[in-house]
Amino acid sequence: MPKFANDPNRRSWVPVPKKSHFPIQNIPFGVFLTRDHVITIGTRIGDTAIDLGALHQLGYFDGVPLTDDIFLQDTLNDFIDDGRKTWRLVRNKIAEIFDNNNPKLKNNKEHRDIVLFNMDEIEMQLPVYIGDYTDFYSSKEHATNVGMMFRDPDNALLPNWLHMPVAYHGRSSSIVPSGIPIHRPKGQLMPKGASKPTYGPSERLDFELEMAFITTGGNQFGEPIPIEEAEDYIFGLVLFNDWSARDIQKWEYVPLGPFLGKNFASSISPWIVTLDALEPFRVEGPKPEKPLLPYLRSKGKKSFDINLEVSIAPKGGTAKTVCKSNFKHMYWNMAQQLAHHTVNGCLINSGDMMGSGTLSGPTPDSYGSMLELTWAGSKPLKLRDGTERKFLKDHDTVSITGHCKNDDVLIGFGDVTTQILPPLSPKNKR
Ligand code: MN
Repeated sequence: MPKFANDPNRRSWVPVPKKSHFPIQNIPFGVFLTRDHVITIGTRIGDTAIDLGALHQLGYFDGVPLTDDIFLQDTLNDFIDDGRKTWRLVRNKIAEIFDNNNPKLKNNKEHRDIVLFNMDEIEMQLPVYIGDYTDFYSSKEHATNVGMMFRDPDNALLPNWLHMPVAYHGRSSSIVPSGIPIHRPKGQLMPKGASKPTYGPSERLDFELEMAFITTGGNQFGEPIPIEEAEDYIFGLVLFNDWSARDIQKWEYVPLGPFLGKNFASSISPWIVTLDALEPFRVEGPKPEKPLLPYLRSKGKKSFDINLEVSIAPKGGTAKTVCKSNFKHMYWNMAQQLAHHTVNGCLINSGDMMGSGTLSGPTPDSYGSMLELTWAGSKPLKLRDGTERKFLKDHDTVSITGHCKNDDVLIGFGDVTTQILPPLSPKNKR
């Protein structure tokens, strides 16, 4: 199946603003609420959202083997479950329908009025029902920095880290799309020097700059996914902010790992950019520093050159970029992560989400969390309004954006932007 949709020379009759993340070569997938309060699966070109359910009903996908209701759903899980061949046929067909040289929909105002929406008329939803969410810990820089601060500067990386992509199982119930505010969590804290814990709002609320990939189902219960096939199970990627309460985390995480310091909220960008659309941006990842077991040996370019940025805006103020990093710094690639995740036979379903872990780069301005940027609060950041941050304050807005760029094309993810609100009290106390 050729990736016809990636042709960098194609232009669309839908206007695409300069520097848009969504040229006709992107064709991401998402779910949105239309101005008529209908939930549909869609894609996006420039600042125009396209209702794929309506487009299918009008017959524009003739020749592509799809069930009638495949896009008339409130999640992408069934579409993703159809597999890579279907994703490619659909992306290719969308590229054809919106090609500047194709008059069919371009010259049909009645149909255009049905299927096209301005981005400001719609409301993006979570794109998939996330059954299971796993968070890796695959940036060596991040793992080293956290190990230095939380444990022992001389043995920052634990002995297993260079031999396997370490991860924990997270919680999918609290994953929300961009634009949904989150409340500061409360929990057990053990203040420095105290002899017993207290209960209260986290004083060390942090973001984590991550990306996450969404899987399709396919392995059998008990059956590992071999590394050379792993990418066939990856539908695409989103930006991912894995909110973390460092004080809760620090007190609770030994011996079983992250729990309430992590599971109160995670935010994702609403458009899933397919692995196919990212094909031109493949690069080699870091070389393994230890010999790997055969099931983790990956060949070829398995990493992607994705520029990432984080900004923070105080209430009513302008945003300041606090971090610039790149997905390509990740030590363990997605194929290795998925091969490792299933090496014991763990079943992967359509719509499962796997976080990369915080994507810190090698330099201090590329660290992907406040914990690292301020070195546990010892070097506060200055925002645009002159105020300082050791960690995040209520009403701060954190935004992550990401894009890939070469001489031919710019493919982006949009953003995941979230405001922090004060803690909510228990229901009966409000
Ligand atoms: Mn994380």
